[in-house]
Amino acid sequence: MEKPVAGNYGTVNPVYGAAAMSTAPSAPPASMFDTVPGYEGTLAGGGGGYLPPPMPTVPMPMPEAPSQPDWQIPSLSEDRAQAAFRTYVSRKCCYSSAPVDEGVTTSMETFNTYRYRLETFTESRTSEWSNEPYTAQTVDAGVQPAPGPWQIATKPPTFFQDQKQTIKVPYTSSVKNCHTCLGMGRRPCTTCAGSGNKLCSWCKGTGLRQTNDRCMHCTGSGRENCSSCRGQGNCECATCRGKRQLLVYINVNVKWTTEKDNFVAQQSSGLTEQSLESVTGKQLFQDTQYMLYPVLGFPDVSVAKASDRFLKKHQAKYAQTSRVLQQRQTIELIPITKVNYMWKGKSYVYFVYGNECEVNAEDYPATCCCCSVM
Ligand SMILES: [Zn+2]
Ligand SMILES: [Zn+2]
Ligand SMILES: [Zn+2]
Repeated sequence: MEKPVAGNYGTVNPVYGAAAMSTAPSAPPASMFDTVPGYEGTLAGGGGGYLPPPMPTVPMPMPEAPSQPDWQIPSLSEDRAQAAFRTYVSRKCCYSSAPVDEGVTTSMETFNTYRYRLETFTESRTSEWSNEPYTAQTVDAGVQPAPGPWQIATKPPTFFQDQKQTIKVPYTSSVKNCHTCLGMGRRPCTTCAGSGNKLCSWCKGTGLRQTNDRCMHCTGSGRENCSSCRGQGNCECATCRGKRQLLVYINVNVKWTTEKDNFVAQQSSGLTEQSLESVTGKQLFQDTQYMLYPVLGFPDVSVAKASDRFLKKHQAKYAQTSRVLQQRQTIELIPITKVNYMWKGKSYVYFVYGNECEVNAEDYPATCCCCSVM
């Protein structure tokens, strides 16, 4: 099927004039898109902004105040603290276990703290113009008014699981000429700039071999067929895949997201709040509802305040651009035990914290140089 090279050197395929020569697939012009009520401002490639949910037609249910739970606070035994400390030291490549074996615990203090977490599960919707090669799909634009972005049914989401769904909006599909190839189905080849040939790779265009004989590869012409377009000078248009026309329609992108906020109550153990991020605590309380009421009567006032603050913040931040589907608030008790011990006449300290019995022992006295670098 290869076109002979002779007589076609360096010419630009006349069908694809200079205007069609730009190689980058251009964005579709705005004139390509119809105006669809309820989808004004929709752009190709997204970026058209969020579609705010309509005001609810039924009154929102009022959040209910939960009954006050019985707050129980556990504490760690010396044996468990020691066992955690031993495991921690044994995992360090060259810590000596002498301080664990010989050290004497002098005191244990409990600095338990609370972590409050608010999760708000939201649904947001955006619209964008999209297109695909036209292969006789249903064309339904204008047959009847398109449903509004929030009238389109989705699959039922699983609460607190981030998911996405893209839905083609009914009654928005129309057929347009492909904007990339101007309806031709083919585009000038970018490798040979539409000429169908390129410099001979054997003789580098001289037409001669090193021995000054004629180059056998290009029979002396100095050029050979372009392999990208097999000498044709043009390739199938990638936008319409050669179909010349596009089905143009609006997509609604539905996104379910869990928005989270954490608050850790202050404690004076000396352990940083950062250390606590890696551990879990004992769950003291959890409440899941469509809309939550702030935590009441919790022993630590700062937790109740955080609950109130986060609920207001989430309402202000997410209710405008998305629909709140569910909220969940959790209070964990994170156990922190500070252990003071003596070894070789000096006092040291380590912390055991979280359900995982994580250990922090920054002043451990029997490390070696290679570990202190880490
Ligand atoms: Zn050659
Ligand atoms: Zn080519
Ligand atoms: Zn095209």
